[in-house]
Formats: sequence, structure tokens, C-alpha cells
Amino acid sequence: MNLSEMRQVLASGQMRLTKSLGQNFLHDGNQLRRIVAAAALSPTDKVLEIGPGLGPLTELLLADAGQVLAIEKDRRLCEFLEQHFTAETKLTLLHDDALEFLRRESRDWSQWKLVANLPYSVASPILVELAWAESPPERLVATLQLEVARRLVAVAGDDDYGVLSLLVQLSYAPKQLVNIPAACFFPMPAVDSACVTLVHRERPLLQANLRETFYRLVKLSFSQRRKMMLKLLKPHWAIEDLQQGFMHVEIDPQIRAEQVTLEQFVRLTKYLTQPH
Ligand code: SAM
Repeated sequence: MNLSEMRQVLASGQMRLTKSLGQNFLHDGNQLRRIVAAAALSPTDKVLEIGPGLGPLTELLLADAGQVLAIEKDRRLCEFLEQHFTAETKLTLLHDDALEFLRRESRDWSQWKLVANLPYSVASPILVELAWAESPPERLVATLQLEVARRLVAVAGDDDYGVLSLLVQLSYAPKQLVNIPAACFFPMPAVDSACVTLVHRERPLLQANLRETFYRLVKLSFSQRRKMMLKLLKPHWAIEDLQQGFMHVEIDPQIRAEQVTLEQFVRLTKYLTQPH
């Protein structure tokens, strides 16, 4: 669906776009094809698409995948999609809030790939929800604000490095970040976007029962970015254990969380959860 077709559909249905739902539709055919290529789809793949909108990405996904589950919050768009894809047997369309759906339904997503141009306001919580699911998708191909995309791929020492980077990268290795200019969307958003590809790690960095401690450690360490990490953790663990742990992981007691690598957070989690 190109830009003029998009304008036509919106005008004919007298659809007023809802800013709070992040309704900036991608009309650039090249960018849409690049997103689908990043998903490396095969005819047996199952795809979760969140926020199909007017369906330009859905159409390409249906051509390459075996099954597409699309979740759209806007009822008017759902009605349009139902009519548009009426003969499409590979598509399951749900009218729902995707974040609420993910929190409500604990599914085995391990045979699925997420491919979505995400609604900006809920993009980060959706990705964290999927990354922390019991059986997360094998690949995440997410289009979102450039600033959030940078946080997803950032490493220790980068300005964008923080809680989101660590919570997602515990389970996913960043593979690619491709910039998408604002002009590729209608209406044009105020900021540029990017498509990020993240691949699920074959070997988990942490055992499942240690993940909650990792989560707590990361959240507390970044609760005040400019403060020393040791000071932030002191009220929650015995100071001797923390000092020993920092030594064990070879981090300076004066360090701030933004300089501590994923691997060091993982090792510190393991250290603090073993009996001393
Ligand atoms: N995929 C389409 C495209 O690329 O043109 C639309 C992407 S647009 C950035 C985001 C879409 O997500 C909109 O259609 C919006 O209505 C929908 N949306 C917003 N919040 C949602 C939510 N919580 N759950 C499901 N869909 C949502």
C-alpha cells in the first residue's frame, strides 16, 4: 500500500488518526521489504505482528510466512483489515491491547518471530514483556523510535545504555539496526525511527531462577544514574557480599552502573545468589 492508497483508504473511511495510539503508518515499500528481509522468514514461520494498522507490513508477512497473528487496538482499523484480508486463511486478527494480551496470555512463543512497526508509547514494555516471557520468540524485528532502538543495542559506556538494554540483551543478541527516516511514515512523526533485529540467545546467560535477582540488581543500579552503583545496592545486600562480589567481577567500587557490562551484571547476579 503506497502513500496515495493510504490517504485514500483513510479518507474514504473518514478515519481520524489517533496520535496516542502512535498511528504513523509506514508507506515506503523499500523499508517494508527491508523489515521483512530482517525477519528471514520461511513458509513454516509463525509471526506475531503488533499494530498492523492498515496492513502494509501484514501483506508482505502473509506472502512469506506460514501464519500471522496480528493484534490491533483500534476497532476501525480491525474492521478495515477484516474486509481487506477477508480471503486470507493464514491471518488471525485480534482486536485487543497487545500489552494487556501479552500479560494475560502466557503462551509458548519460542516458535514465533515478532515483526512489527510498534506503537511508540508501548514499544519498550512490549519488548520487555516478550523478552521476559517463559518461552520468548526466536527473533524480534521491531521498528520504533531511533532513540529507543539505540537503547536496545547499546553496550556499557554508550549514552543510551541502561535498563532496557540489559533487560532485553539478557535474552537477545542485537544483530542489526537500520535507520528509517521520518518521511517514510504518514503522517510524518517528529523523530526518526529504526528497525532493530534481535536474535534469541541459544544458550541462556543465566538460569531461569536467577533472573529475578538480575532484574532487581539492574533496576536498583540504574535507579539514580549519576550515583555510584555500590551506594545504590548497599541497602539491599550485605556490604561485605557486595564488596566481595565487585572484586570477584573485577569492577571498581566507585563505578556507576552505566559502565558495567551485561556480562559483569550476569556474573554479579550469580555471585550474590550463591551461599557465602
Ligand atoms: N503496522 C502499521 C504500519 O507499519 O503502517 C501501523 C504501525 S503504527 C506505528 C502502530 C499501530 O499500533 C497502529 O495501528 C495503532 O492503532 C496500533 N496500536 C497502538 N497501541 C496498540 C496496542 N496497545 N495494542 C495493539 N495495537 C496498538
